[in-house]
Amino acid sequence: MPVNVEAYRQIRKELDANSVGLVAVSKTKPIKEIRELYGLGHRDFGENYVQEMVEKANILPGDTRWHFIGHLQTNKVKLIAPFVQLIHGVDSLKLLKEINKQAEKAGRVIDCLLQVHIAREETKFGLDEAELDALIKKIPAAGLKNVRICGLMGMASFTEDIDAVRTEFRNLKVIFDKLRTYNSQPACRQARFTTLSMGMSSDYRVAVEEGSNLVRIGSLLFGERPKNDTTK
Ligand SMILES: *Cc1c(COP(=O)(O)O)cnc(C)c1O
Repeated sequence: MPVNVEAYRQIRKELDANSVGLVAVSKTKPIKEIRELYGLGHRDFGENYVQEMVEKANILPGDTRWHFIGHLQTNKVKLIAPFVQLIHGVDSLKLLKEINKQAEKAGRVIDCLLQVHIAREETKFGLDEAELDALIKKIPAAGLKNVRICGLMGMASFTEDIDAVRTEFRNLKVIFDKLRTYNSQPACRQARFTTLSMGMSSDYRVAVEEGSNLVRIGSLLFGERPKNDTTK
C-alpha cells in the first residue's frame, strides 16, 4: 500500500501549527514506503524491533532519525546505540545504565524518554508515578554522563472512550510539568525535560490538545497493519 500523502500533509500542517513533532511509525512497513515519506522531506521514523530498525537504518540515508518506541531489552542496546536518535520507552535504571555504557562506547550522548504507565490496562511496561520519582532521584548519583533524559512517553488506554483517554494524557502532562521544575537544578544535568511523547493515530488530536509535543503515528500514514500485529 502506498503512503497516504494527503494524510501526511494534513497531519503535518496540524502539528506544525502547534509546534508538535511527528514520528512516523514505520514498524512492519517496507523500505519503499519509508523512502516515499523520506522523499517528502520526512526524517523521523519509529520502530519497535531492534533487528528491524538496524536493517532499515543500514539502507536509508544517514540523516534519517530513528526513534526506538518499543520495549528495549538490555542485551540489544548495543545494536542501536551507534545511531538511535531517541529511545522513547525507558523504564528502569538498569536499562538506563546499559544505554549509558553503550553510548559511551559509541562516543555519543543518547536522548531518552521515561515511559510512564498511564493506561488503565494492565501491562508490564512503564513506570507508575512512585516508580518514576524513585528512578529520577537515583539519576544524579548514577553518574550517567552519556544519557540525557529529555522527557516522558505514555500510551493511553486502547478504548473508544475519548474522555478516559483525555484524562490519561492530562495526568501525564501534570507529571511532566512537575518534572520540568528539575530543569533548573544543576545537580540534575542528565535530565532536561523538554519532550512529551504522547498520541498515536487514534488519539493524537486529543494528545496535542492536552500538551503533547511529539506524536507517534503509524496507520494514518502507512495504512493499517495486519490484525495479528501484536506489536502494541
Ligand atoms: C505502533 C505504535 C504506535 C503507532 O500506532 P498507530 O496506531 O499505527 O498510529 C505509536 N506508539 C507506539 C509505542 C507503538 O508501538
